[in-house]
Amino acid sequence: MPARRLGMFLVICAPSGAGKSTLIKKLCAEFPAISFSVSATTRAPRQGERPGIDYHFLSREEFLAWREAGKLAEWAEVHGNFYGTPIAPVKDALAAGRDILFDIDVQGADQLRDSLGRDGAYIYILPPSRAELYRRLSGRGTDSPEVVAKRLAAAQGELAQAPLFDYWVENAELDAAYGDLKAIYLAERRRPGRHPDFLGELLAQWEAAV
Ligand code: 5GP
Repeated sequence: MPARRLGMFLVICAPSGAGKSTLIKKLCAEFPAISFSVSATTRAPRQGERPGIDYHFLSREEFLAWREAGKLAEWAEVHGNFYGTPIAPVKDALAAGRDILFDIDVQGADQLRDSLGRDGAYIYILPPSRAELYRRLSGRGTDSPEVVAKRLAAAQGELAQAPLFDYWVENAELDAAYGDLKAIYLAERRRPGRHPDFLGELLAQWEAAV
């Protein structure tokens, strides 16, 4: 479509171990027009994570200062650390007609429904079963059995929130799940409301051609 398109936002949530990060990386790699919203967090960087690219790594005091200054569109405590979405890059991306993707938890999604509204696409990635989620979480080999048990219990609580989302993607097999996610993104981009000038330009062309 030739005319200007408005930027849109995608909110992607999933229980830990559902494969969310892999799906998000694939989508951002295929569609460079999507900006990834870099969250602030108080958790320590993991091996290979880059400050300012994967997360803004803050002390608890810095995080609270950002929160008090109104710099966060939403924030939540997840697995004992604070996480939050800086608001300025979101405003910049949407104003410039770029899409922006949020990798956040269900508490954050809830707050964004209030602050940004429902005009984005709220997508929930579902693990195919409890047994498979357990297999994936314990197969990582990075977490103790207690941490795995905590994440499974948290997943069960989170799944109760899944009906609040616009779309579900079941990640039983990566390529199929990615196909679904891409289809949702492409369909969302085609909504008439995201192309305010398109019909006017098309009709003007028709009139000019008569
Ligand atoms: P991790 O520490 O494994 O990178 O992320 C843990 C959880 O925190 C994930 O579910 C992730 O989506 C969530 N998370 C990351 N950034 C944010 C954020 O800015 N806000 C909220 N509410 N959750 C976040």
